Amino acid sequence: MSAFFRLLARNRLALWGGVVLALVVFLGLITPLLPLADPDVTNTADRFLPPFSEGAFLGTDHLGRDLLSRLMWGTRLSLAVGFSAAVAAATIGAAIGIVAGFYGGRTDNVIMRGVDMLMAFPYILLALAIVAALGPGLMNALIAVAAVNVPFFARNIRGITVGIAHKEFVDAARLAGMGNGRIILTEILPNVVPVIVIAMSTTIGWMILETAGLSFLGLGSQPPQADLGSMLGEARSALITNPHTSVVPGVMILVIVMSINLLGDGVRDALDPRLKSGALSRPMPATLVDRKSVPEAGEGDGILALQDLETQFHVKDRVYKAVGGVSLTVHPGECLGIIGESGSGKSVTALSVMSLVASPPGVITGGAVRYKGEDLIGAPYAKLRSLRGDRVAYIFQDPLATLHPLYKVGDQLVEAIRCHHDVSSAEARSRAIDLLKSVRIPNAESRVDSYPHEMSGGMRQRVGIAMALANEPDVIIADEPTTALDVTVQAQILALLDDLRKARGLAIVFITHDFGVVAQLCDRVAVMYAGRIVEEGPTGEVLATPAHPYTKRLIACVPELGEGRRKLAAIPGLPPVVDKLPEGCAFAERCHKARDYCQRGDIPLEGPAEGARRVRCLYPENERMAEAVSS
Ligand code: ADP
Ligand code: MG
Repeated sequence: MSAFFRLLARNRLALWGGVVLALVVFLGLITPLLPLADPDVTNTADRFLPPFSEGAFLGTDHLGRDLLSRLMWGTRLSLAVGFSAAVAAATIGAAIGIVAGFYGGRTDNVIMRGVDMLMAFPYILLALAIVAALGPGLMNALIAVAAVNVPFFARNIRGITVGIAHKEFVDAARLAGMGNGRIILTEILPNVVPVIVIAMSTTIGWMILETAGLSFLGLGSQPPQADLGSMLGEARSALITNPHTSVVPGVMILVIVMSINLLGDGVRDALDPRLKSGALSRPMPATLVDRKSVPEAGEGDGILALQDLETQFHVKDRVYKAVGGVSLTVHPGECLGIIGESGSGKSVTALSVMSLVASPPGVITGGAVRYKGEDLIGAPYAKLRSLRGDRVAYIFQDPLATLHPLYKVGDQLVEAIRCHHDVSSAEARSRAIDLLKSVRIPNAESRVDSYPHEMSGGMRQRVGIAMALANEPDVIIADEPTTALDVTVQAQILALLDDLRKARGLAIVFITHDFGVVAQLCDRVAVMYAGRIVEEGPTGEVLATPAHPYTKRLIACVPELGEGRRKLAAIPGLPPVVDKLPEGCAFAERCHKARDYCQRGDIPLEGPAEGARRVRCLYPENERMAEAVSS
């Protein structure tokens, strides 16, 4: 709850809306206690007094009644009617929606068709018809306004309820022997209340306007009783000669509705978790770049080289250093593994290569990414587009999330091909079938017309790989492509990638948190921790004689079959939060070998002159490395 208020307060406009509304409501509440003139006493001698007159601060209306007093009482009445209408509409609408959504079937059909019928009429027309039938009066106006808003709530809440009514926790409640009534009250209602509040907060303003509209037409509050709408209505004839009589209630309506809407939007944004994470802010097509200098191109770098790459997330006044100076190279036909705990910056590194990190909040703040020697950071968008998916392709972790659910997989493959190559659709389709065959999808000719949901997880990931291969890329970046799969399928996918690499000379960057996978596939491996590489070398060497204490303990966490009983040593503690990185070695706090020096200054990535072993540690675990580091 306090998080909700903090979020709300961060939204300046909503905060102001809330403050103004609170003030208006407070004034409305204390109106009877204030020393105001009687709002209904007429005094024709003092008609149309201008504002700031003696004894009438806001002037008087056409019957000489005190406008300030009428404004206060009118505001009080309008607010009360608007809120009551909103509460009534929300309660009735939500009840209807929950019943329809929960019971479904015929109940749902009958109720919702009724609601549809109500919705078929324009709002105001329906409200007018209801008041015409019931007769003019404030209470009837309230009923009319509530009635025309019931369908809106009913539809909204029904939709939410349908989604919830089939969730596992509802089934569990039913298994526990709860009746329908109790399930609705204890399981469904708490889940829809936020939606009701959101819907209400965004419609109260509208309902106050509608009530005022009815009063304006003389169908709501009856003379001499003042509400904002009737005040406007009565002032209509004097609009030109004495505008203050219209301006006073008009400004109040504007202030109330504006403040309610601003506050309502703030409430919605603060309560809706999707909006909280910035789902509505559209990311830019390429990551923002803000770097001071560009590193010199190295010699003999592979097909893809990362040089001191730094990627940060700038969220409000915090800076998350997700990638803090990563250098890597990969050569054609080579597979480079990147391994590390979750949150160590592997995915952000991978996405930075093609400037795919979402901005905002992502910013590339340093380093270079060279593809065939050419720096891609800050390259024109057209250049990035021509490379993405064509020369450098990605395979992501969750194929169900990366494939479009509404298109056949074949069409998605065709799209990937025709994006980069000007071929006929028939040609692209036959190429798609070949691709599916090359990733060993049985019966590719018919599978090409399947939808993603008709395939198993392993098959979908094969489609993901086929898509990455569609344009015969030079580099494939695979971000945990097998994490969501079971072990046998994982083995098949790894074998497939390995074959493709050998057959086509692909360079693969393979991201994983599993040393078993690294051992099976990768020639070299880089170990990441808190956004930096802490150890790097040929896979066999690193696995056999890890040099960094972190690597050693990561390897110790992997169970081995047939090795007898062995205690699996979990690494105590958690990786550091990347917006508050400690000085020196980020692993020092969890390291059994850490000494004073470890937490001072920058520790370089070093190793012996010959070979490709490097380690970022002052006291490495293996002697050859220890010698190299100390020299
Ligand atoms: P992993 O190694 O598991 O792939 P990631 O590369 O996804 O890790 O994340 C690296 C770090 O960047 C994490 O600490 C994460 O909290 C941070 N991070 C990722 N995305 C964002 C974001 N949009 N805003 C702030 N921090 C982020
Ligand atoms: Mg990741």
